[in-house]
Amino acid sequence: TARVAAGASARQAIPGIANIIAVASGKGGVGKSTTAVNLAVAMAQTGARVGLLDADIYGPSVPRMMGLSRFRPEIDVDGKIIYPLENFGVKTMSIGYLVEENKAMIWRGPMVAGALGQLLGDVAWGELDYLFVDMPPGTGDAQLTLTQKVPVTGAIMVTTPQDIALIDCRKGMEMFRQVHVPTLGMVENMSQFICPHCGEASHIFSEGGAARLGEEYQTSVLAQIPLDIRIRELSDAGTPIVAAHPDSAQAAAYCQLAGEV
Ligand code: ADP
Repeated sequence: TARVAAGASARQAIPGIANIIAVASGKGGVGKSTTAVNLAVAMAQTGARVGLLDADIYGPSVPRMMGLSRFRPEIDVDGKIIYPLENFGVKTMSIGYLVEENKAMIWRGPMVAGALGQLLGDVAWGELDYLFVDMPPGTGDAQLTLTQKVPVTGAIMVTTPQDIALIDCRKGMEMFRQVHVPTLGMVENMSQFICPHCGEASHIFSEGGAARLGEEYQTSVLAQIPLDIRIRELSDAGTPIVAAHPDSAQAAAYCQLAGEV
């Protein structure tokens, strides 16, 4: 569309950042932030220089999941440079550092665009091999702003195997296709549950759907992450499982994902 085409010409690389990768989902609650956080930490463990930008302006999760919610970033006197907060080898920035945790964000589209533009442009990221961007769910203002303002290397779509999530994931991939951002692949989250008592695997949210959708869009499932209580507990506690238990099978799934990116 004209709107997208006009924006595309204004895309400006962020100096020092080699790859900007959107971690996106069609729908909320599928584990996009959990995936973004663990992927970023896993990538940092390979020795890469990694940043994580929380673009979920309405529901920022990065401060809590990265164990940084009690910290505030340093801001230069004239308010023009914001310094990222670092943990587990990953530099992070989130609107959540700048507002109170319990305060609702009631913003219209242009305000979202403005805030995201600032988080992209005014943060002293330094040299990064990868900047992962934890997107808000869906296909809204933040997606348009990101893809219009900066050259996005590609998008990773997070979905559960459930039909309703896959339908929305398809919409997300359509949107990225329209703005000429390649889908690097999909992550099937909560793909199976291993019973801690008997070890039996059950497919709580169905199975096989992501692979079928991937075939349709000529993209692949980069990793399958199990539905696992420790992933949730550690994420809530602010220590991603990849950092807390790097030798676990769950961490291995995220490390495999990092290897595929
Ligand atoms: P989204 O970013 O898509 O809204 P979140 O990453 O915030 O989703 O995840 C939603 C909830 O599900 C969180 O409580 C998170 O800890 C939990 N969760 C995400 N992935 C898993 C998983 N693989 N196993 C168990 N819990 C998970």
